[in-house]
Amino acid sequence: MAEKLDKVDVVVVGSGWAGGIAAAELSKAGYKVVCLERGKERSTKDFVGSKDELRYTKRHELAQDLTKQTMTFRNNVGEDAIPMRKHNGYPIYDEGTGGTSVHWSGWSYRWLPFDFEIRSKIIEKYGEERIPKDMIVQDWGVTYDDMEPYYDKWEKTAGISGEVNPLGPPRSDEYPNPPMKESPAIRLFADATKKLGYHPFRMPAATVSQQYVNPDGETINACVFCAFCSMYGCDFAAKADPIVTVLKTAQKTGNFEIRNNAHVKRILHDGKKATGVLYVDPLTLEEFEQPADLVVSAAFFSGNNRLMMLSGIGEQYNPETGKGVIGKNFTSHYTGIGGNAATAYFEDKKFNTFAGAGALGCVIDDFNGDHIDNTDTDFLHGFNISIFQDGAAAIANNRVPQGTPYWGKEFKEKSVHYAHRYLNIGGMQGTMPYTHNYLDLDPTYKDVYGDPLLRITAKFTDQERNMAKMIAEKCAEIAEEMGADIIDTPPVADDVEMTSSSVNTHAAGGVIMGVDPETSAVNTYSQVWGMENVFVVGGSSFPHFGNSNPTETIGAFAYRAAEGMIKYLKGDGGLLVESKTSKETV
Ligand SMILES: Cc1cc2nc3c(=O)[nH]c(=O)nc-3n(C[C@H](O)[C@H](O)[C@H](O)COP(=O)(O)OP(=O)(O)OC[C@H]3O[C@@H](n4cnc5c(N)ncnc54)[C@H](O)[C@@H]3O)c2cc1C
Ligand code: SF4
Repeated sequence: MAEKLDKVDVVVVGSGWAGGIAAAELSKAGYKVVCLERGKERSTKDFVGSKDELRYTKRHELAQDLTKQTMTFRNNVGEDAIPMRKHNGYPIYDEGTGGTSVHWSGWSYRWLPFDFEIRSKIIEKYGEERIPKDMIVQDWGVTYDDMEPYYDKWEKTAGISGEVNPLGPPRSDEYPNPPMKESPAIRLFADATKKLGYHPFRMPAATVSQQYVNPDGETINACVFCAFCSMYGCDFAAKADPIVTVLKTAQKTGNFEIRNNAHVKRILHDGKKATGVLYVDPLTLEEFEQPADLVVSAAFFSGNNRLMMLSGIGEQYNPETGKGVIGKNFTSHYTGIGGNAATAYFEDKKFNTFAGAGALGCVIDDFNGDHIDNTDTDFLHGFNISIFQDGAAAIANNRVPQGTPYWGKEFKEKSVHYAHRYLNIGGMQGTMPYTHNYLDLDPTYKDVYGDPLLRITAKFTDQERNMAKMIAEKCAEIAEEMGADIIDTPPVADDVEMTSSSVNTHAAGGVIMGVDPETSAVNTYSQVWGMENVFVVGGSSFPHFGNSNPTETIGAFAYRAAEGMIKYLKGDGGLLVESKTSKETV
């Protein structure tokens, strides 16, 4: 029998950016907030002296323990899904104070106006017949203009250091901090892409370029380019994360408590409204009921989906009938297709790529969204291309040109020769949703508490394969202009298929937003259509994946959701926006 605790105004599940922003805004507004975080307590000082590539990059010490919680994966309905037992290069997600948002790399982009009105814009430009019947792409129900103030707020909280994208959407203000330093590799990429007629700009970075005090009064230090950034916590408090920003802000209000080692198993409800949550302490296995007026699920895409499914909130999506909304529109920036698209080897140039930062880089947006004309492409949406210098850690980065044996004298000679003589150029694809890519509960495999695991059913289509081929082509073109002597582009096979290792931390969907409860689970304030006092915040609400990193958009929607929550609590309840019938045709 679970111990029933005293009621609070708001319970937040998860302490990453999404949960941290909700907690800060609500506690600043005077509400009593408890944040339940399944992982252990940690602070910046826990990261001191932790520059250990084997522990963090290879053994993924900060990532979640897959022996206790994982997901299962299959390509098709009818197949048995298999549990994911190993993190790929980019771990699925993290647990502990600050969540995955602690060991991220800090690439921080706004998505395009095109992304928020994607279906309408595609139809306007190419006609409805251009959208394949199984591509269930839909408008989000908000426009970029609606989101601009929240993007601005996020950038100021996180101290984003950047240079305005010449092809980017309109902005109400510049970045709060100047871009990071320009390395020779970045200069070479910028010069080459300019010569090719593209529009390079410095990667917007949450690895902050100078000491900065954000509007909540939190200090983020200047990055020292230590190069142990992506998959590490920052011991210099120089990477914007929830620990140094929003959780600190929430703590200062006196209205906030973070409870670690609290794994939420269910959102409790009476069918119409939530009454609180049920959680278990993973160390003692004691169970607690935390009553609350409002529940915020901010448990990453997978935790959010699973909580909705396990709690019986909303109708499970059925790929056969197209009915139901929970679990629909799973997307990801799939690893292994369209990622690191060209490795450029130089005989006459050496680069100190061992120095770096998570978000030290340069980008072109010329093929992003509707910047690319899809009339003659064999895919919809687009991709960006970037060069980044995040520290060529010694174990993970031992590049030799294709064809070199992976052992023996030749390997050793070339590995030493090219150690400072190669650069990676990569792309990130916009990912479209399909009827056959979805999430549900696995009928066989369970977690350590006996609850079913989340099951992913997903496969590639020619959309992803064709875009990956064009990314490789464009990256090679840039590498050539940069003067590379050898250019390796991994081939994209016509039948390359998704595996569990394709799924990474950039995963989204399943509790998507929209205007119509028939085709979306939450409204544009992330409020659940059928349960007005539950808000589900994070990448789970994306109806498709834009072609750059997700966290800034997660942060912007978390600010919008928090505004909605405060409006809801101050008012007489009810839905914050009226539902409409969407134009989506499945
Ligand atoms: C190595 C790496 C590099 C990355 N780099 C970038 C980048 O450069 N740019 C970018 O935009 N994104 C990047 N990302 C992705 C980014 O980290 C995520 O988009 C972001 O952290 C998501 O924030 P969130 O608040 O939704 O989830 P999280 O930060 O994961 O927070 C969710 C929290 O919920 C907790 N939780 C889950 N389930 C439960 C439960 N049942 N009960 C209690 N607590 C629960 C988890 O323990 C976790 O702490 C990167 C990720 C990784 C791993
Ligand atoms: S590279 Fe910069 S932001 Fe990243 S961990 Fe090192 S000091 Fe911190």
